[in-house]
Amino acid sequence: MHEKLNMQKRVERLPSEIINILMTVGRHSRHLNCKAYLVGGSVRDILIDNRVKDLDITVVGDAIRLANVIWGDSRSIRVYPGFGTATVELHEGFRVDLATARKEFYPRPAVLPRVQFSDIYDDLYRRDFTINAMAMGLSPGDYGEILDYFGGLEDLKHGVLRLIHDKSFIDDPSRIFRCIRFQHRYRFRIDTRTKNLMIQSIKGGFPLLLSRERVAREINLLFSETGPRHSVEELVVLDLWELLFPGADISVTTYEKMERVSCNASGQPLYVALALLEDIDHAGLREMLAVYSKKALQLKKLRKREEGIGKFVRERVLDNYSLYTLFWGVDDEVLDYLKLVETSVCYKKNIQRYLTRVKRFPVYITGNHLNKMGIPPGQIYKYLLDNAKREIYNREIRDMNGQIQVLLKLVNKGGL
Ligand code: ATP
Repeated sequence: MHEKLNMQKRVERLPSEIINILMTVGRHSRHLNCKAYLVGGSVRDILIDNRVKDLDITVVGDAIRLANVIWGDSRSIRVYPGFGTATVELHEGFRVDLATARKEFYPRPAVLPRVQFSDIYDDLYRRDFTINAMAMGLSPGDYGEILDYFGGLEDLKHGVLRLIHDKSFIDDPSRIFRCIRFQHRYRFRIDTRTKNLMIQSIKGGFPLLLSRERVAREINLLFSETGPRHSVEELVVLDLWELLFPGADISVTTYEKMERVSCNASGQPLYVALALLEDIDHAGLREMLAVYSKKALQLKKLRKREEGIGKFVRERVLDNYSLYTLFWGVDDEVLDYLKLVETSVCYKKNIQRYLTRVKRFPVYITGNHLNKMGIPPGQIYKYLLDNAKREIYNREIRDMNGQIQVLLKLVNKGGL
């Protein structure tokens, strides 16, 4: 009864849109003669007054029917009859997931579980940590009441991450990544037994049984969270990094870079990936971070150009044309990464100057102009255009006529 009151107070503090959803689900569950619960991370986040990012609702009964009764007219409802689940995207990024309560069996480690519809206890038992395995009643009669079979409230109070059952990291080793993620996000401590089970799963090589997509997804989530450097360090300490990427040692410099790119912005996962990929030449790591390969390649080429033309990029502010030859074709996100990772004030100024004075500077001259001037196509085109651009960028000649005059002057001079 006491917890019920507590939770109701907290629920009242939620945005009215969320309260409306919870009450609507509860009301309709009664009409359909089923029970609905808010579950998992949503309950955890309400209990610690964190922003609720989405709503997970478990229905003891037919979740799809309940979703259809409430949101059947919505264009964003998706139902998955084979899984007994429905998803509604209410506005940009805010989702409500409804699922029929289920029990899970893992026929083999690290594969997707077999599922059987069941009651709320089994639905909570299949979850990872006690703090993620609580439910809050939504149906009239138990609205706001917490179901806490595994001591989640105590663990939440004391900041502890504890597994619900001992086989958990073997059934699904992706929970190891989740554990590290929550540890750093909430600054929680991993309970000793849970830590030992984690080490056993890693020693047994179970994480290797996960598909590459699942590991990539978990790693990406780790990179998106608070303090990615510490999470990666934890993977190293636990020997999970070595298990996944044998020989891909992380240097002090790379750790420092990861520290510098911690900014909690949407670009953070890319920045962490670039910090690793630019310092570590490891096929497995590249494959795991394949979504970032285009930008990693841009960075690699830029670093090569730096060795030649831009060697002064850290010592002086370069002229516009040098900035153009150095940074042209590099995406803004890669430049943002460099702004974070580079310690030289000059380097940052050069990027800023490139972005404000060079990147959008209009250059009109092309090979067509040379053609019209009667110059036969050949290597000389590049030479003439490059030289013309140097003058155009550095003297900031914006109008097309002025630019053509520069080209003409070079042609008349014999390209000298
Ligand atoms: P986040 O705040 O990062 O979204 P979350 O806990 O809400 O974290 P979700 O991935 O949205 O994570 O999962 C919702 C709930 O589903 C979790 O709180 C947990 O109860 C359960 N869950 C998710 N993934 C697993 C898993 N691999 N093993 C067991 N339970 C899981």
